[in-house]
Amino acid sequence: MPENITHCPLCKHENSQLFDQRQFRGQPVQNRLCANCGLVFQSPRMTAAELDEFYAHEYRQVYQGEEGPTEKDLFVQNGRADSLLDFLAVHEIEPTRYLDIGASSGILMLRFMAHFNCTALGVEPGEAYRVYAEKNGLTMYADVADLDEKNFDLISMAHVLEHIPDPVVYLANLRGDVLTPSGVILIEVPNLYAHDSFEIAHMTSFSAHSLRETLAQAGYEVIALKKHGQPRSKLLPLYLTVLATPHPNPSPTGRGTKGEGKKGARGERNVRFKRRIGMLWRRILTKFLPKQTWIPVK
Ligand SMILES: [Zn+2]
Repeated sequence: MPENITHCPLCKHENSQLFDQRQFRGQPVQNRLCANCGLVFQSPRMTAAELDEFYAHEYRQVYQGEEGPTEKDLFVQNGRADSLLDFLAVHEIEPTRYLDIGASSGILMLRFMAHFNCTALGVEPGEAYRVYAEKNGLTMYADVADLDEKNFDLISMAHVLEHIPDPVVYLANLRGDVLTPSGVILIEVPNLYAHDSFEIAHMTSFSAHSLRETLAQAGYEVIALKKHGQPRSKLLPLYLTVLATPHPNPSPTGRGTKGEGKKGARGERNVRFKRRIGMLWRRILTKFLPKQTWIPVK
């Protein structure tokens, strides 16, 4: 049975309003807007146990109609690898020990290993994808908790954070143990203000603001944040890509402590309006400049 999320996953505030409701592949999906910080999150949603089962077997079936990688999926992942490598090059990141969380078929790992000449491990809960990656010679785990070795100087989470029930706690747990103090984390998520985004598996729909706040609350400093559409669009900012590093002196967040709200996440305003404008802009570009807006998937 789905569970109701009674406290905002970012600021722990209790008040939220209905933001969006729709059917996704035959299943009802509701998203709520936190009245305090402006985070958009799914509620009700699958419980942790239901999510584990969903990712082990159902996720790819629901999304793609088959459990292994499709051609479209591999094409998008290759394009995404190009875009993420470009982003790291701009910021002169040169990892030696790399961990990819949500490694999928392992394309990003293979590309990063070849480019940086680094060692790499992957975490992928989906069994069919993990087996596919292992067949390509990659070392894969089902869960971060299963890792024997830690201390990575680069962790990537491409289109993963939006699937995680408690992103602040998850990111905070990576800091200092899995990620070295001078290491960097590379995250890409759909952008609430351009991506359709409200899928059954998306627990959170991030804006640039709420992504920055999530990282700050988890004890990270943002090095760079980019809005872009690669590899799907030249014009629409479908994705948010961020590079962050553990803050040397993370302050206590004050999350959930009454009377300490100001120490918690800073609020974002006009979230409904920005979503409406963003999606309107997307419809206008799609209608009048379809070829310039969308990059075909081969
Ligand atoms: Zn909130």
